[in-house]
Amino acid sequence: MSEMQPNAEAVANDRHGRDPETATLDAVVVGAGFAGLYMLHRLRGLDLSVRVFEAGEGVGGTWYWNRYPGARCDVESMQYSYSFSEELQREWRWSERFSGQPEILRYANHVADRFDLRRDIRFETRVTAVTWDETAELWTVETDRGDRIAARFCVMATGCLSAARMPDIPGLASFGGDTYHTGHWPHEGVDFTGRRVAVIGTGSSAIQAIPVIAEQAAHVTVFQRTPNFSIPSRNKPMDDEYEALWKSDYTARRLKARTMRNGILYDLNPKGAMDVPEEERRREYESRWLAGGTAFMAAFSNLATCADSNQTAAEFVRAQIRSIVRDPAVAEALLPRDYPIGTKRICVDSDYFETFNRDNVTLVDVRKTPIEAVTPTGVRTSDGSDHGADSIVLATGFDAMTGALLKAGIRGRSGLALADKWEAGPRTYLGLMTAGFPNLFLITGPGSPSVLSNMMVSIEQHVDWVTDCVAHMRARGVQTIEATEEAEDAWVAHANEVAFRTLYPQANSWYMGANIPGKPRVFMPYIGGVGVYREKCDEIAAKGYEGFRLSAGPALRTSEAAE
Ligand code: FAD
Ligand code: NAP
Repeated sequence: MSEMQPNAEAVANDRHGRDPETATLDAVVVGAGFAGLYMLHRLRGLDLSVRVFEAGEGVGGTWYWNRYPGARCDVESMQYSYSFSEELQREWRWSERFSGQPEILRYANHVADRFDLRRDIRFETRVTAVTWDETAELWTVETDRGDRIAARFCVMATGCLSAARMPDIPGLASFGGDTYHTGHWPHEGVDFTGRRVAVIGTGSSAIQAIPVIAEQAAHVTVFQRTPNFSIPSRNKPMDDEYEALWKSDYTARRLKARTMRNGILYDLNPKGAMDVPEEERRREYESRWLAGGTAFMAAFSNLATCADSNQTAAEFVRAQIRSIVRDPAVAEALLPRDYPIGTKRICVDSDYFETFNRDNVTLVDVRKTPIEAVTPTGVRTSDGSDHGADSIVLATGFDAMTGALLKAGIRGRSGLALADKWEAGPRTYLGLMTAGFPNLFLITGPGSPSVLSNMMVSIEQHVDWVTDCVAHMRARGVQTIEATEEAEDAWVAHANEVAFRTLYPQANSWYMGANIPGKPRVFMPYIGGVGVYREKCDEIAAKGYEGFRLSAGPALRTSEAAE
């Protein structure tokens, strides 16, 4: 495996102060996660001048911020990686089936160095305002370091899960110990040895972190509001033969993955769950449970759409939980019951349910005894119990999909704030653009498959589409591209219609904005499938960007008028 480290000199230079920049460039990219890095690479390939602004000190986005114990991907590493460079995908060697955060971060750094990306990235710089200049037809991008860049294009690669959500628990600030959010984990790590740790939340992050923390801490108290479905990862060291198999056929496999519903190449059973005898159904679930990972949800083709079928998968997982957790009362409390399996993001774990058999782990069901307050010494619940803690881990998730975008202070035509336009929920055309905000591209924005997919596949597809679009504009002297209201309305209606054909809207999930008080309840990602969506995007481009308004710029219009 490559052990290439970040370019230390470049990182150090950036840490030392720098003068604010004022310039007119072709493009600004906001964010240096996997989306921002690849976008920079592709725009440079068009010979555009590009500046990337990144709030963190380094590249990697999700994998830079989420350094909690146990953090790892749950799409296999052979697939959770870039496909754009044949050399890159052949030379990089993953050490595990599902690689851990440190390794994924090393990979992001390797990519940044290999493609010489750092010189155009300004780290520790947060974009605070993005304003459309109607006259010049340029975006003005301002940062918290005083930069002010005018740019023809602005690409928001700000991430769907990058705005950490702090819960509104009374007294949180009064806590006398240490408080950590999984999405802002200290870079130096945390030693929980001998400590009593309270973990609030039982989503994917908590489910990965709890078993690892429990091995180190004196005691872990888990505060669970909604039990989650979780499938064992069966993570293991990378099998050389498996890696060689993938690499012998990488291009074809990547192409195939792009046509799949989730952008993941796995064996989707074409049968419906109720179309097979019970015994066959049980065998299918068992073999997938033993194989591990999210492919469990591909056991039958209709688990996302047929309530009865879904119920069979949910019941199978509940039976597994009952068989793993020794204390029947604890097992009962851990059973997810009030939403269909998969409609909240399915979790993948290493020994999560087993961890509740440990003597040093306690489960508190906060539906029965809600958290009343955090006190200086711990967490108090409504039954009057004081759960003493030295550290609190907030695994409380993110203001997903719209959070980072709305925080960036984006204003389009006539000064319209994106936050106002999206007051009743995000509205986009294809998740790529939103009407009234010309030349502003969203990578994996709401209205695209994004978080329902292997994000690497969706990121690459969006970045490639945007690159082709910019090249198309340049070749034809087009200055601005903007989604029309009609196309956007039709796409939003279609995306809703597809979502409500599934069971997904039945869950109070972050896909629906339900984890943020006051956030509009809209199913945000596009659930029509990665392959179908890609075809749609390509078709629209092939038809001269149907549904977008393309116009020549002021200079071109003046010269045209003079002819
Ligand atoms: P991010 O990686 O979130 O990067 C966005 C960057 O933009 C951040 O670094 C942020 O600092 C920066 N930024 C935001 N706003 C501003 C601003 N105003 N100014 C400057 N910078 C800004 N997906 C999968 O497909 N498979 C997985 O297994 C998987 N595991 C995950 C595990 C965790 C713990 C989390 C949180 C997410 C996971 N995801 C997974 C989703 C993951 O977010 C994506 O796979 C992918 O890393 C997103 O890349 P990105 O570049 O789009 O966004
Ligand atoms: P999450 O799924 O939103 O989970 C947040 C948890 O905190 C939920 O259990 C939630 O309960 C709970 N919570 C929030 N506020 C609370 C409060 N005030 N009191 C009590 N409980 C509270 O967030 P996440 O675990 O960080 O995961 C977010 C997404 O990131 C995942 O869905 C996934 O897409 C990605 N991710 C992936 C992996 C991976 O395995 N590769 C790992 C981590 C994250 P409710 O459910 O009741 O709201």
